[in-house]
Amino acid sequence: MITENLSQIRQDLPEHVKLVCVSKFHSINEIMEAYTAGERIFGESKVQELASKQEQLPADIEWHFIGHLQSNKVKYIVPFVLLIHGVDSLKLLQEIDKQAQKASRKVNCLLQVHIALEETKFGFSEEELLQVVKSGVLGELKHIIICGLMGMATFTDNTEQVRAEFSSLKSLFDRIKEQNSETLPDFNILSMGMSDDYSIAVEEGSTMVRIGSKIFGQRVYT
Ligand SMILES: *Cc1c(COP(=O)(O)O)cnc(C)c1O
Repeated sequence: MITENLSQIRQDLPEHVKLVCVSKFHSINEIMEAYTAGERIFGESKVQELASKQEQLPADIEWHFIGHLQSNKVKYIVPFVLLIHGVDSLKLLQEIDKQAQKASRKVNCLLQVHIALEETKFGFSEEELLQVVKSGVLGELKHIIICGLMGMATFTDNTEQVRAEFSSLKSLFDRIKEQNSETLPDFNILSMGMSDDYSIAVEEGSTMVRIGSKIFGQRVYT
């Protein structure tokens, strides 16, 4: 099934949109099926699970961290992670910078913006984000590359609500990119869209979708 699901999703996605296969709660065998079908970008949302899978799976996989990251766990993923999607505070950015310096590497990060109605979702508000960008503090973090923004829409059947949230995130992305082309030269990724809403996200300007259940089936939380 995984191979069939992937070929259908690939048909839906334009060339310029990257697919992150969200493999959280799925087994090594299931990941290997997607790998064999040609996928190389996988996303996980728990630090321990990511670190354990990274050890067991082929070295050419690009691992993305997509969950809520706690500062005290940054050190476990910084040595190998390729992109951290959900950076939602300055404190976390500073910790990633510190650990990246220790590991002698630069870590790609996306700043998470809170666009949904649910209070339980994470992220900077639009005002907070604009202020952080304006403050110039991002330029001082020499071991971080700010690659763009990430957002999660409200969990709802109301597609117009979802579309409006993605559209506002895209406007914010364009605005930051335009106004900071010198200080944020790598600001190119807009990570939005999951199994149930990626078509809308792509229509609204997503460049990276994070898809789990539509590839691997429902997750069984243990
Ligand atoms: C789990 C998760 C996804 C994938 O969700 P699906 O609905 O299974 O596609 C995408 N993004 C984040 C941040 C997630 O935690």
